[in-house]
Amino acid sequence: MSKRPAVPDRSCAHLRAITTVRHPRRRECAECVKLGAQWVHLRTCQECGVTLCCDSSPNRHASKHAHSFGHPVVASAEPGERWLYCYPDDAYGEY
Ligand SMILES: [Zn+2]
Ligand SMILES: [Zn+2]
Ligand SMILES: [Zn+2]
Repeated sequence: MSKRPAVPDRSCAHLRAITTVRHPRRRECAECVKLGAQWVHLRTCQECGVTLCCDSSPNRHASKHAHSFGHPVVASAEPGERWLYCYPDDAYGEY
């Protein structure tokens, strides 16, 4: 989920429902910080606003969070990146 989408995917109702994108409060993975672990990229949950690490990171906290809490959509928390990703639909959208 690190690649940038070429075309926004309009088939996902979760992405369509996002009107205001949540941004990271802190540029760190909330769970990795507790563990003293490293991360690669950060994603911000659009349901609750927590910022967690991506699927390229050893702990994949954003993905685990999405599945265990049922929070479908994350936004990239990387500077300059403006895209959303829906886990259940595997759909990307730019904003
Ligand atoms: Zn969706
Ligand atoms: Zn993490
Ligand atoms: Zn969440």
